[in-house]
Amino acid sequence: MADTIIKIDLNKSPYDNEGVHNRWHPDIPMAAMVKPGEDFILECHDWTGGQIENNDNAEDVRDVDLTQVHFLTGPVGVEGAEPGDLLVVDILDIGAFDESQWGFNGFFSKQNGGGFLTEHFPEAQKTIWDFNGMFTKSRHIPGVEFAGMIHPGLIGCLPSKEMLKEWNDREKALYDTEPDRVPGLVNLPFADTAHMGKLKGSEKDAAAAEGARTVPPREHGGNCDIKDLSRGSQVYFPVYVKDAGLSVGDLHFSQGDGEITFCGAIEMAGWIHLRVNLIKGGMEKYAIKNPIFKPSPMAPKYDDYLIFEGISVDEQGKQHYLDVHIAYRQACLNAIEYLKKFGYTGAQAYSLLGCAPVQGHISGVVDVPNACATLWLPTDIFDFDLKPGPDGPQHSVAGSTDVPLAKDK
Ligand code: ZN
Repeated sequence: MADTIIKIDLNKSPYDNEGVHNRWHPDIPMAAMVKPGEDFILECHDWTGGQIENNDNAEDVRDVDLTQVHFLTGPVGVEGAEPGDLLVVDILDIGAFDESQWGFNGFFSKQNGGGFLTEHFPEAQKTIWDFNGMFTKSRHIPGVEFAGMIHPGLIGCLPSKEMLKEWNDREKALYDTEPDRVPGLVNLPFADTAHMGKLKGSEKDAAAAEGARTVPPREHGGNCDIKDLSRGSQVYFPVYVKDAGLSVGDLHFSQGDGEITFCGAIEMAGWIHLRVNLIKGGMEKYAIKNPIFKPSPMAPKYDDYLIFEGISVDEQGKQHYLDVHIAYRQACLNAIEYLKKFGYTGAQAYSLLGCAPVQGHISGVVDVPNACATLWLPTDIFDFDLKPGPDGPQHSVAGSTDVPLAKDK
């Protein structure tokens, strides 16, 4: 077995671990060094650093401190890596810790984070998922069990000084268009809760004041939340700084396309086994601006779906021009309304769409004025028949349980 080069302790604060950080900045020192061709294991906190507990109370989701996220493990330096190279990362395996065989999903309060359907689900709720080998189910959502497509929600290399400035400038410009929006348009740098790894003193303070938040995906990859970036994938990352500085976190046991609940997929702490190689000058050789990847040779084999269509007409009946965000929201809302006919609460259905191996597709973006998005719901994850028939739904899970909710204070 490969060496674990950065360890974590689930019983300790991630702020006490110099192999962990929660902002992107080129001055964060490498937490470990490896050579091209080597494989190694990194241990990762869940994205909130242990703020969410395995219980039936959603107050921790309501009160979460989102300025702390995401806790990433790294940066790992790769000897010989230089700006312009491609860092080739094989995701060899991922797992949960023996003592932590569970994960969480939730929706944030509209007042603290919000989410894709926050107008429909404005208060904090959470579901807990228990792992059983490669399968998972939730005591809060009856009638479903599925195989996990385990993946890191967040992985990428440190930005250069120039790239960091570009991120901060363009995001601030968007922020300034509506600074009081709830939830906010952008998460600006925030020094108070920044964890800059090994950086200390005035150097740390300076970097913390401008370190980019980890929420959005950017040119380097980052928080892409791509469920297909699963174990067995090979990823090609642009390198911007000497030694590359690869960091990873936000491990997901499973996730539906879009990570629509925002908190988020089935979130977990765990370990990831990686191998790195370099393609010198690869960014130029292959015209790489954003990462590219080859998917895993293995994936859960769900090939029967009920597919829900959505178009870019919103819930109020307003016509939008080719807006795939609105079209996907309608597809999700259509799936939720359908599942409610089988006795699920809206919250159970919403959480399920965020957690299960649901596919989302952009089906059409040229047929003005409507974009068409589709949500593919795998039928084999349900222990009853989900298809429509002449006599209506023949099964109901109503009354069995519900998703814990924490009222806003
Ligand atoms: Zn996540």
